[in-house]
Amino acid sequence: MIKSTKKQSQEKTLMRIRTLLNKFEYLKSFVYKKEYIEVHGDQERLIIEIVPRKNSQAICSICGEKHSTYDHKSTPRDFEFVPLWGMPTYFRYQMRRVSCPVHGVRIEQVPWARGKSPITKTYGQFLAHWAKKLSWQEVAQSFKTSWHNVYMAVKEMVEYGLAHRDLSQIEAIGVDEVHYGKKLKYLTMVYQLDQNEKRLLFVERNRRVKSLLKCFRELGKENCLNIKYVCSDMWKPYLKVIKKKLPNALNILDRFHIVKKLNEAVNTVRIEENQRLKKEGYEPILDKSKYCFLKKEENLTKNQETKLKDILQYDLKSVRAYLLKISFEAFWQYDSPYWAEWFLKKWCTRAMRSKLEPMKKFVKMIRRHQPLLMNWFKAKKAYSSGAVEGLNRKVNLVTRRSYGFKNYDILKIALFHTMGKLPEPERTHSFF
Ligand SMILES: [Zn+2]
Repeated sequence: MIKSTKKQSQEKTLMRIRTLLNKFEYLKSFVYKKEYIEVHGDQERLIIEIVPRKNSQAICSICGEKHSTYDHKSTPRDFEFVPLWGMPTYFRYQMRRVSCPVHGVRIEQVPWARGKSPITKTYGQFLAHWAKKLSWQEVAQSFKTSWHNVYMAVKEMVEYGLAHRDLSQIEAIGVDEVHYGKKLKYLTMVYQLDQNEKRLLFVERNRRVKSLLKCFRELGKENCLNIKYVCSDMWKPYLKVIKKKLPNALNILDRFHIVKKLNEAVNTVRIEENQRLKKEGYEPILDKSKYCFLKKEENLTKNQETKLKDILQYDLKSVRAYLLKISFEAFWQYDSPYWAEWFLKKWCTRAMRSKLEPMKKFVKMIRRHQPLLMNWFKAKKAYSSGAVEGLNRKVNLVTRRSYGFKNYDILKIALFHTMGKLPEPERTHSFF
């Protein structure tokens, strides 16, 4: 008795599926023929069979033109659709082969899926949407699909987005490098840094002149000429490429990169001093103090704050380096480039007298790039200077969350998906 009611209600549901599909996933030249449940191991799957409409012609997958049918593939193909009632759902269709006068015998192009993709376009968009909020593994688990399908969904979405994005109207960009993976491989990143639009524009393997040249080539000559501001670090080969390829741009050394270098100098002083203290048999008070020196004061934990306060009482080289670093912060507060330069000069003299080699090295670098550094004041309000740091943090989040990203190509797709603000194809029905 109970069994038959269940069966009846299932049949009722199945009848309604076709109505819903015709409403939300209408296919012009195809018909939803029948639906049934199939058991695969311990999993029940909903199968929706599709057939071509009478007298409809198949489309050549190369040229997109309609031609007569050559034959049918012997086994039907399944395309995964959005799960209904938590049940994995598939469109099942027997692919036709068309005889195209230009391309010969080809498999047909169906409107619900791209190329050889095993998932429907609708499901691809659905998965890609969730892959922005969850890790790919979590998406796969949540919707009972494979990691590979989530990857394919995101990949298709990114490929569509890259082909359809608008690269004109970009005035400010940032060039940066990021390392990832255990072997510390580099990525060259180019961001858009306009006040009203911040996004990832390019990712390239390695940090080489070739990598950056490739980004500018993709941006196109005309768009390169539109760039008014480019912010970068001090790596000479990149500075050269920027000068050559972006002739109308003011090159700015961003605050974020300078502070990073300064922090590195302070850290080197600390490491060297710590080793010396240990060797000479002193109490290793600089052990585990790295972040006390590097973090912004307001971000220190209670423990770090106490430790730093303690260390600052000693007459140490690290303390002198730290105090120099703190006093450098005033530099960024100036509105007038003239007074900022005045301050910089005084600060550099003081740092040179400190007799701390890493700090002296920092000063020499600053002096070498002083005009570019001063450009920061000229462009202060024209581009989003805080954005580089924020975008950088986002990249680290993606690379760290990416346990499944075995290689560069996958990582690149993940980065574009989360940071590229890429356009998406229009949907007939919105699931979210
Ligand atoms: Zn063709």
